Amino acid sequence: SKDAGGDRFTLFNEGMSTRVMRHIEIEHDIRDALQQEQFKFALQAQIDIDSGKLVGFEALIRWLHPKNGYIMPDEFIPIMENSESMITLGYWGIKRAFAILAHLESMGLSGLRVAVNLSASQFLDPNLINFMREQLAKSEQGAEQIELELTERTVVADISHTLRIMHQLKELGFSFSIDDFGTGYSSLAYLSQLPVDVIKIDRSFISGMSANSADKQIVKSTIAMVRKLGMKVVAEGVETAEQLHTLGDMHCDIAQGYHISKPLLEDDLYQKLPSKIKE
Ligand code: C2E
Ligand code: CA
Ligand code: CA
Ligand code: CA
Repeated sequence: SKDAGGDRFTLFNEGMSTRVMRHIEIEHDIRDALQQEQFKFALQAQIDIDSGKLVGFEALIRWLHPKNGYIMPDEFIPIMENSESMITLGYWGIKRAFAILAHLESMGLSGLRVAVNLSASQFLDPNLINFMREQLAKSEQGAEQIELELTERTVVADISHTLRIMHQLKELGFSFSIDDFGTGYSSLAYLSQLPVDVIKIDRSFISGMSANSADKQIVKSTIAMVRKLGMKVVAEGVETAEQLHTLGDMHCDIAQGYHISKPLLEDDLYQKLPSKIKE
């Protein structure tokens, strides 16, 4: 009826305006957030599947908003993309990654890696290489301990630019991983041309493994191919012992996911880590 249609229109409108207002609020509050250091990293463990040993962490950003509590990156990163604040936040993340490595070392944990997500706008920043070189010079830690995660989307956006920047960062010693592998466009074709150390198989394939034998085949053949190219494979979103076991059988190198550990805020992690390492 006409009434029902009218109601639906009203509801839709309210939903829209709430979303738009949240978007505007986030956009508005980001500048303060950067100044007042409201961002934090949660660190998620990565383990070597064969030995079960900790090899490093992925740094996942959180925004502790003074009014709204924790806001997750899927909500604010897309809003920040293509703005100056994304570059600023990216710089913060790299500095923090070096600080994390220094802290881990002070705890007696050396040789671990920290993986940091790089957004497309960071990769287009003309000052990126200088910034990375500066941070490296300031730090006691080696560049090879920092892994830069790029999505396929970022890589293929401008492949010749990507290659140039990647090679310069590789020369400084940083390593690279391709994030969310399998969800992008051209997957295999360009892979062998990239100076990439690690491929991270997207968690949608990992979660599909038990129910769906096609996903299992995809995971298995991706691991075999990536290893043949001399790269390491990280499985992300490992949620069960069964998945971990299957991945081990497939000779996957590294696992990350809730089954191993949830992402933990730095302070929380530093508290729990000593007892976990002893296990
Ligand atoms: P991502 O890089 O693919 O990160 C993995 C996401 O999967 C994280 O979500 C993580 O908390 C979640 N996750 C980990 N293990 C499991 C699991 O076993 N099961 C399930 N269901 N999920 C799991 P999070 O922390 O919400 O981050 C979302 C996305 O935000 C990231 O996806 C990444 O694209 C982006 N992001 C996070 N931190 C940063 C950052 O510092 N900079 C940039 N540019 N992007 C970031
Ligand atoms: Ca990632
Ligand atoms: Ca991912
Ligand atoms: Ca993702």
